[in-house]
Amino acid sequence: MTERLSILWHYVQARRRFTRWKNRAALETWQEQQVQRHLTTVAERSPFFRQRVAEHDQSSWREWPVLGKAEMMRHFDTWNTAGVTLEAAWALATAAERTRDFSATLSGITVGLSSGTSGSRGIFLASGGERRLWAGTLLARTLRGTLRHSHRAALFLRADSPLYQTVNSRRFQFAFFDLYQPLNEHGPRLQALRPTVIAAPPSVLVHLAAQPGAATLLAPPAILLSVADVLDAADRERIEQGFNHRVAQIYQATEGFLAATCPYGRLHWNEDSLVVQKEWLDPAHTRYAPVITDFRRLTQPIVRYRLDDVIVADNAPPCPCGSLFGTLGAIEGRCDEVLQLPGTETAAPVLIFPDFVRRALVLGLPAGVNYSVVQTAPSHWDVSFSADCELEPVRQEVTELCRQLGAQAPALRIVPWVPPAPSAKLRRVRRQLTESSTP
Ligand SMILES: [Zn+2]
Repeated sequence: MTERLSILWHYVQARRRFTRWKNRAALETWQEQQVQRHLTTVAERSPFFRQRVAEHDQSSWREWPVLGKAEMMRHFDTWNTAGVTLEAAWALATAAERTRDFSATLSGITVGLSSGTSGSRGIFLASGGERRLWAGTLLARTLRGTLRHSHRAALFLRADSPLYQTVNSRRFQFAFFDLYQPLNEHGPRLQALRPTVIAAPPSVLVHLAAQPGAATLLAPPAILLSVADVLDAADRERIEQGFNHRVAQIYQATEGFLAATCPYGRLHWNEDSLVVQKEWLDPAHTRYAPVITDFRRLTQPIVRYRLDDVIVADNAPPCPCGSLFGTLGAIEGRCDEVLQLPGTETAAPVLIFPDFVRRALVLGLPAGVNYSVVQTAPSHWDVSFSADCELEPVRQEVTELCRQLGAQAPALRIVPWVPPAPSAKLRRVRRQLTESSTP
């Protein structure tokens, strides 16, 4: 099968699976069978997981100790099933970052580097088959039956991928816009392309939405995708107003393609590739860190793997789109974006979720002002604003927020604004205790 045909096949399969199951129990039974079969193969090929299966019963995989990026990097050589060493993968990945040429592979295995916004960077491997499955599923979940149209997709990415060139055809063009180039330089090329699809991080979409003519930039069937970063409510509104079009979200990490927005605007987990378990972050069970098991990825198995993301639980009834794949309320940020403050009534620290902080800042600042909040000590937040603004209204909003949450209000300090590079992840809220302040 040619590469393009194989992607198309995955596209058709992924479309069919989205609404294939008529009840949750049937879906979960199917998932369990897939995981069991997958684990048997993984244990045959990965020394690390062979030992896991030997130590813990395979049938009780749902209770296995949770793994994460640190463990994966530590056991890299025995974890992957392709015999790739960390040394070789690291050399290839860093050379690609330096030269901006991402076409090299290790015997057909592509090597990706996670952006490493929180400490250590991760290295991720994918085989040709896994890349084609990814591409087919991604197209199915985002284009939704518009494949009979001719598409021109503008992708704003940190790195190009040989994969896009594979899919390129007369009916389907991918244009790569390098995030390392200044955004204003892209304007004329984007206008000339008249894209039917724009996929970009929210900060780029906000910028594009503010340009004259944004409302007519997209050609039908007009698909607007927010990728790579958290899309918060304020940005969503600015993007949708500027483009006069609804924005869909893709939740994707180097760990895999995890979730996407359906036509009804709800974010569905890709439960035809993943089992998602919830590690609750708060006693009221409003937010969780997802623990994922991918039953298709074999080159670098992802089993009981905890993502450092804060997900808002969705308690709404099943989605009218007909898919029984679980939905998530929102992707709120990374776990290190959850701030903590001493409680007014309890000894335990009170968790301040990033969305609360963002809301307080948006309320306290004039419209359109960008900001960042960094918790540098147990009771100190450094704030910075992209324009000259009063601190007092922000202080009032933060104090009110803390009162509602039963937390002691932090001391706020204005620090100079450093505009984020267009290629950098936008992280408005961060917990980064400095050495001297760590208790
Ligand atoms: Zn839906």
